[in-house]
Amino acid sequence: MKSALVESLEIQKLLDRISGLDMPGGDMRRKQILRKIVSDLFATIDTFDISPEEFWTTVNFLQNGAPEFGLIAPGLGFDHFLDLRMDIADRAKGLEGGTPRTIEGPLYVAGAPLEKGYARLDDGTDKGEALIMKGRVLDTAGKPIPGAIVDVWHANTSGAYSYFDTSQTPYNNRRRIETDGQGSYKLQSIVPSGYAVPPRGTAETLLGAVGRHGHRPAHIHFFVSAPGYRHLTTQINIDGDPYLHDDFAYATRDELIVHLTRHEEPESVRNAGFNAPYSEISFDFILLSATTAEETQLQDRPRVGEQA
Ligand code: FE
Repeated sequence: MKSALVESLEIQKLLDRISGLDMPGGDMRRKQILRKIVSDLFATIDTFDISPEEFWTTVNFLQNGAPEFGLIAPGLGFDHFLDLRMDIADRAKGLEGGTPRTIEGPLYVAGAPLEKGYARLDDGTDKGEALIMKGRVLDTAGKPIPGAIVDVWHANTSGAYSYFDTSQTPYNNRRRIETDGQGSYKLQSIVPSGYAVPPRGTAETLLGAVGRHGHRPAHIHFFVSAPGYRHLTTQINIDGDPYLHDDFAYATRDELIVHLTRHEEPESVRNAGFNAPYSEISFDFILLSATTAEETQLQDRPRVGEQA
């Protein structure tokens, strides 16, 4: 089975990274076999034009037998490969100029509290550095979009997500924020940490066999949506993280790397209502106009907190 996309230099390089062939460590025979398996599966996805919905149905099926498939899929580059295929389809339709998409990951929980304009995400128990993030949701002409929903979720300073980490309060570090009349949103939270796949689990064992690690850089996930605009699934990656360009899930994209501005001066700390240095991120989301109602919707995928 041949796929021009899979034969492209970009995907060949990605396959070398996925199978650990671009690095020392691990077992050469396993690397070669893994590369062939993933390459053939990528070609199958491309040849049959397998939709993300079909892919997630399959991952969910596999996960019922082996719970870590939700981590193995991004670790073997499948989530990123689906993004690249959607990018290609968009370019073919002449769609460009929006904030790039990147993978959702398996840790979203639907139904987070909805607040207008501003929300505090953390419950105050995590002693991590305070974070203020603000920006606007805009169209490709730079016009603000009032009433857009910024659905945000991130890990705590231990790299753990509420719900999956049952020691956290419900919806900790998860909120939906509706943009105000100027298309603006603002949130307060804590600066999240990067994290890794569970130690000694199936995903870590598989990655270790080919010399790879299972780390992700610090990041914040978003769904951004508004009537008449294409639904956006993305993340921002915090600049300076040691795994920024070595994400086990290949989700980092240059346009999604954000700089953290640290405020240490006592006066600006006090003025912001904090008693210790805090960090700030500014980021605008740019949405593309939708041509169909379907494009405004989040893709179907089994998710926590949603009714089947
Ligand atoms: Fe994540």
